[in-house]
Amino acid sequence: MLLRQLRETMAEQLASQARLDKIVGLIADNMHADVCSFYVLRDDGALELFASKGLAAESVHMTTLRLGEGLVGQIAADAEPLNLDDATSHPSFAYRPETGEERYNAFLGVPVLRAGQTLGVLVVQNVERRHYGEDEIEAMLTTATILAEMVATSDFDNLIKPGSDIDLRRPRMFTGVSFTDGIALGKVVLHDPRVVVTNFIADDTDAEKLRLETALEKMRMSIDVMLDHGDMAGPTDHREILETYRMFANDRGWVHRLTEAIENGLSAEAAVERVQNDTRARMLRQTDPYIRDRLHDLDDLANRLLRVLTGDGHALSRKVLPDNAILVARNMGPAELLEYDRTKLRGIVLEEGGSTAHVAIVARSLGMVAVGQAQSIVSMCETGDDIILDGTAGIVHLRPTPDIEQAYVDKVKVSAKRRAHYAALKDKPSITRDGVAIALLHNSGLVADLPMLDDTGAVGVGLFRTELQFMIASKLPKLSEQAELYAEAMAIAGDRPVVFRLLDIGGDKVLPYQRSMTEENPAMGFRSIRLGLERPGLLRTQIRALLLAANGRPLKILVPMVTETFEFVRTRLVVDKEVDRLRRAGAPLPSRLELGVMVEVPSLLFELDQLLPLADFVSIGSNDLVQFLTASDRANPRVAKVYDPIGMPRLRAIRLVVDAARRYNIPITMCGELAGKPLEALALMAIGMTRLSMGPASIGPIKELILNLDLEPIRQSVNAALSDGADGISIRQLLQEWIDKQKLPV
Ligand code: PEP
Ligand code: MG
Repeated sequence: MLLRQLRETMAEQLASQARLDKIVGLIADNMHADVCSFYVLRDDGALELFASKGLAAESVHMTTLRLGEGLVGQIAADAEPLNLDDATSHPSFAYRPETGEERYNAFLGVPVLRAGQTLGVLVVQNVERRHYGEDEIEAMLTTATILAEMVATSDFDNLIKPGSDIDLRRPRMFTGVSFTDGIALGKVVLHDPRVVVTNFIADDTDAEKLRLETALEKMRMSIDVMLDHGDMAGPTDHREILETYRMFANDRGWVHRLTEAIENGLSAEAAVERVQNDTRARMLRQTDPYIRDRLHDLDDLANRLLRVLTGDGHALSRKVLPDNAILVARNMGPAELLEYDRTKLRGIVLEEGGSTAHVAIVARSLGMVAVGQAQSIVSMCETGDDIILDGTAGIVHLRPTPDIEQAYVDKVKVSAKRRAHYAALKDKPSITRDGVAIALLHNSGLVADLPMLDDTGAVGVGLFRTELQFMIASKLPKLSEQAELYAEAMAIAGDRPVVFRLLDIGGDKVLPYQRSMTEENPAMGFRSIRLGLERPGLLRTQIRALLLAANGRPLKILVPMVTETFEFVRTRLVVDKEVDRLRRAGAPLPSRLELGVMVEVPSLLFELDQLLPLADFVSIGSNDLVQFLTASDRANPRVAKVYDPIGMPRLRAIRLVVDAARRYNIPITMCGELAGKPLEALALMAIGMTRLSMGPASIGPIKELILNLDLEPIRQSVNAALSDGADGISIRQLLQEWIDKQKLPV
């Protein structure tokens, strides 16, 4: 009844204030309340009385309460209803004489929520003491769902205190962590856009219940199908998530709450939105990471259900993006990122993710600005919002104020200058002031990022992640397609060597067209060269493609994830066999063929004397090496950030490899993310590493450091610290002090 009247009022030609006055009147009548008031949260944190039936008329737009102040402020802050039979004696009651409120004893207030954020508070009051029933609370929450929609879509500009705005549109800043340097200004594109509900009020409650039931059944079935088929493109903990979904989808409490909301007059989709609102509100206030994750799952599930109900696929196609799009997501895998039109993407923001997660690496290799761990940003933004990413500081500004925007426009100009400065360094030899030559190389993986070699002056590609081509393809690339890509890469690089790493799939690098087994610990599972050796067809094809692409030129192949020497030996046999085949076919052989080994599994540290004599070169993958040395998932910041990768034990491990490579006189390169960070690169140079491979954007800053560096003194103190093992010395601190003293550009 009330909802129908509300709908008619919404459709009427009325000014905003008149409409609100009528709405509070209707609510008061229907609830048999003496007072009904509606407060709206402003961007300055004040709750402004926007409309009231029953309170003194002159207090409307005059009375305000701060967030947390009084009963209304408490409801807004906690996002929980408050039901009191004697409000004036409650310790939080804040008396506002202009309202004439003291006469009213009974009080029921509910938060007005949208996407879990408080937009305002709706209150009813009665003179007589009474306790409002569960059904009355439910009715108020249902009404609040409609009011939330009104706040979000109406123009309250001429009603609200001049100079203020509603809180929903408030500029917000998020402090996350930097994945890549740089600044990007653009528009939000939600990776998983919220479904927009337009039909809020049920015409026929029974029909809506049936729609809900049908949609639930459809969704449950689709989850079952996904589980049964093991069709799990995406992150490997997918299965666990699906199991959780299934549990929630069958949860009677959840279904009951949805049904109840429909019985109160909402359409099925509005009911989902209303229940989802509570979940989000709890999520935003939840600090326990486990519960947060569960609430996230429930939120995802509600979104799925909304999609089924509204028949909405993804609102925005991944290929149709605004120019300067900035992708906002809770998390995503590298393959999902690659589905977007890369020419339009300027940056990416994640609520989760670690800086060595593969999605971050892909973002870096595409030259995108990326920030991770921006908590709760997804629920605070809408597609199309203005957004600024400060990748250097790890900061995100959502809906920036004009002065912040101006500051960043200026910064972009400055960073363009800095880029010009780095560009001017590109032809200078990369040699320290005391004469140590340091080779700077790119980490790469897509042909599109290779022309940047000319811009940075890097001497080659130290790591070409061949799996990226496989990840963006819709089916397994054929021999000819692979050969073509590798030949193109070599052609663009010209005289500069390219180190092609054999397929490193598995872990979080999932191929969309490949069925993967479910593994408890995919990073330590059936991946990379383990998979290659067990499925020799794939490995052989790739090696053949590389040999063909070289077409008589020199070729460098790198073997990832070697755990024991025999794996390297077996890979060498496969290579030799393919070379033989080529010879017999009379095709040109590479003028020089080198096979290198990646040291990224700690076990190899204790086999260096067996392994290195067999390898033509070594490359250290610090991302995996550190993850395995510290038993901390590189993609899980909660653990990964605890252990400094250049802490004593890790740097000692890296030095072991550097020393061994010197003993066997073979070249060694660092191709993990450490090489691209100035302070970390300094640590590596100090222990004798002279070849550093990194994302193209890092070349300039690292070169600048090298050109200003006297290596010998810091080399001595770092090595002394590592060898002495003196307690309490932090390598990072030691380096930082030296950087400060020498005024190095770090
Ligand atoms: C590494 O592990 O450090 C590495 C370079 O390989 P990836 O990041 O691709 O695993
Ligand atoms: Mg690795």
